[in-house]
Amino acid sequence: MTDKSIQELALSVERPVEKLLEQVREAGLPQRKADDIITTEQQDTLINHLKKVHGQESGNTGKIALKRKTTSTAKVTSTSGKAKSINVEVRKKQVFAKPNPELLAAEAKARVEADAKVRAEQKVRNEAEQTARNTAEQKANATLEAMRAAHTSDSSGQTPAKTAVVVKKRNSDKVIKAPVIRPTETPEQKKAREEQTAQLKATEEVVRRKAAEEAQQRTLEQMRQMASKYSNDDATATIRVIDDSPLAAGLVGQAYEDSFNKEDREIKRGGATANPRAGKKGGRGGDAQSEQSFSKSHHKRGLKTSQANKHGFEKPVKKQIYDVEIGEKIIVADLAQKMAVKVREVIKTLMKMGELVTQNQAIDQDTAVLVVEELGHNPVLVSDTQAEDNLLVAAEEARGEQTTRPPVVTIMGHVDHGKTSLLDRIRRSKVAAGEAGGITQHIGAYHVETEKGIITFLDTPGHAAFTSMRSRGAKATDIVVLVVAADDGVMPQTAEAIDHARAAGTPIIVAINKMDKESADVDRVLNELTTKGIVPEEWGGDVPIAKVSAHSGAGIDGLLDLILIQAELMELKASAEGAAQGVVIEARVDKGRGAVTSILVQNGTLNIGDLVLAGSSYGRVRAMVDENGQRITSAGPSIPVEILGLPDAPMAGDEVLVVNDEKKAREVADARSDRERHKRLERASAMRLENIMASMGKKDIPYVNVVLKTDVRGTLEALHVALDELSTDEVKVRVIGSGVGAITESDVTLAESSEAVLLGFNVRADNSARQKSDQDGIDIRYYSVIYHLIDDVKAAMSGKLAPEHRETILGVAEVREVFHSSKFGAAAGCMVLEGVLHRNKPIRVLRDDVVVFQGELESLRRYKEVVEEVRAGMECGLAVKGYKDIKEKDKIEVYDVQLIKRSL
Ligand code: GDP
Repeated sequence: MTDKSIQELALSVERPVEKLLEQVREAGLPQRKADDIITTEQQDTLINHLKKVHGQESGNTGKIALKRKTTSTAKVTSTSGKAKSINVEVRKKQVFAKPNPELLAAEAKARVEADAKVRAEQKVRNEAEQTARNTAEQKANATLEAMRAAHTSDSSGQTPAKTAVVVKKRNSDKVIKAPVIRPTETPEQKKAREEQTAQLKATEEVVRRKAAEEAQQRTLEQMRQMASKYSNDDATATIRVIDDSPLAAGLVGQAYEDSFNKEDREIKRGGATANPRAGKKGGRGGDAQSEQSFSKSHHKRGLKTSQANKHGFEKPVKKQIYDVEIGEKIIVADLAQKMAVKVREVIKTLMKMGELVTQNQAIDQDTAVLVVEELGHNPVLVSDTQAEDNLLVAAEEARGEQTTRPPVVTIMGHVDHGKTSLLDRIRRSKVAAGEAGGITQHIGAYHVETEKGIITFLDTPGHAAFTSMRSRGAKATDIVVLVVAADDGVMPQTAEAIDHARAAGTPIIVAINKMDKESADVDRVLNELTTKGIVPEEWGGDVPIAKVSAHSGAGIDGLLDLILIQAELMELKASAEGAAQGVVIEARVDKGRGAVTSILVQNGTLNIGDLVLAGSSYGRVRAMVDENGQRITSAGPSIPVEILGLPDAPMAGDEVLVVNDEKKAREVADARSDRERHKRLERASAMRLENIMASMGKKDIPYVNVVLKTDVRGTLEALHVALDELSTDEVKVRVIGSGVGAITESDVTLAESSEAVLLGFNVRADNSARQKSDQDGIDIRYYSVIYHLIDDVKAAMSGKLAPEHRETILGVAEVREVFHSSKFGAAAGCMVLEGVLHRNKPIRVLRDDVVVFQGELESLRRYKEVVEEVRAGMECGLAVKGYKDIKEKDKIEVYDVQLIKRSL
């Protein structure tokens, strides 16, 4: 043997260089590379080593050396279903020898010692871990408790924010593969294998624990970083980890991060801010983004970092004291809102003061002041109409000298007495020839020029428009021309027109029309008018009379003269200077043009481009046309115009004012819509008979207005007299409207505008009247016994309210067909229109909404079956006991009388 390189040696022994190098290394020789020289001595050492390894030294050939590599996987599954696995690879070399008791004993001893050592190490480590964990838990718990206590004691958001994430210990579902059991193994092999498995497990455990520790450490470190970024010195973040698996640690980390993101969002929403998380680099895209906006918001608001952990909403430390503006009236709910308290609170305070109110009721200024003071706020008294008054005053101040203005006339009268014909005739005869040929426009009014002056006619259909204008506080009409057909005399609507005009205090001029007719009877008309309190001048009264014919045109000039004389007497004045003021005659919404509003200018001059405030709507005048459809640019007093430019249609009768300040216009418009709402709510409760009577006792109202409708004239007169007689020195009853027949929409309007109660004796409200009364909150009382009506009014007047017999209408059916049978007499096929028809309740038969019969039902059937009741929308057959004269279109009303104890 000579010295040679490893490579040469490998060639000579025919072994791969690498293998040889490995064996050289195992033999403890220094050679590491292929061309390192190995001496002869070293070659000997190597041979000896190899011999030893292969058992040649002791000559024992019964030995087998085994090298094994085991790979196992520890699997853990998270709740979200994600599985994580840890690969564990164990390399092991084992030598199996034929039983050699000595050797075995020695080996066993060594193994036991080694195992004991490993176990001892393991124990020590476990104990150390447990202690560390316990201490950490205790610490965390203490911090958590402290924070919880701090949080409950002060929720004002001044304590630093706390974030506690608790992950419960899960059952770690680690899967460790069991070693394969070979059927041929010997007891020794089995033992060895078992040892091997135990060792494997131990190794796995160590590896797993180490990985868990590392992951936990990493997470904790991340958390610490996040916490320090997120909070400052006075904020603490506590994490409590009760699981030691890497997955748990990962979950904790994730949960923690999520909680941060969530809080970030909340903080951004809430308006507070936190530290910029400048230290955070990279991370997920979402985070980076949120971070960006986060720091942006932080910079923008420029809030201090100590506010970082505050809630968005803070409970005010000090009670806020408000200045509460109170107008003449205020609705309870509004008052509560102004003080930022619950309505309940205000109602409670009012109750303590002895006032029982609901949230929609209005209370007066004095009461409201007491409530506001009671609740510790400052009452500020304001006038409801302050803003408007200021505007009006300003407009008035700007006005120049007053000059005579044309009168505004409304033509009223019974249907078919010739109102339209008369207006047409006047218009045709007086409008300038050129204009008459043009397209006339219905704008609700027009003016005519006579030799003696201009007259403006309001062409509003029906009396309701007149009264509804008046009920809105507008006095558009100066003079009422009452048209009565000479051949027909005073009719119900004539009487109604008289009532309306009287109620408004407007002078009347009577035009007896159709004088060309042969049947014309002026004396009869004058007679009938006198019974209505209209005494003609020629009979010594104060009402001028014109005899006209719309057909022939006779007497028209005389009528116009009378109007102008009356106007002169009234000394109607206005100024054409300054901002225009007027009234809405009518308004509608046109598909193409938007709100189209007819306005009667009453003062000043209206120009294109003016900022107009009409009711609760305002806008600039975009276009203006006169009654002939001609575009005009300005309109003076008593001139009707149609304008475009308002955002929505105001109501007829709304006041119109030109203002130069849009802010003021808005203010007034808002105040008006508020007031309108107040009025509606108030009216709903005030217009009831009880309330009028009750307030009468308290507030010294000198008279009660009554609108009375009855079935026949006899009853009307009797009731009229009876009610007049009720008047005493302190309280007077004034029947401001009365008539025979159903209660109409016009009656409701009259009652509403005059704050009257509507009493119906044996009559009912027709459909439109019912709708209107519901809408306006007008109480209609129905009676069928005279002394019930008188008693009700009398008892209320004297303050002693007797129990009230109040009728409730349960159901109404309309007769569709009448059959005559020998058994029942007349049987009626009916359709139930509303409510329920009961067989055993009292009924009335109504014809044209007037009671023609009272009694009870003989029978009530559906098909052949006798039934107790029939509901709305169903057909039924019925017979009325003792009444054979039933007719188609009659109504059967089923009612009930209740005794209601009343109290003030
Ligand atoms: P309104 O319902 O009050 O507007 O009445 P109208 O103006 O529609 O007229 C009703 C009816 O009376 C029409 O047929 C007219 O022709 C007729 N009429 C109107 N005025 C006169 C008149 O002065 N003489 C005659 N003979 N008939 C008239």
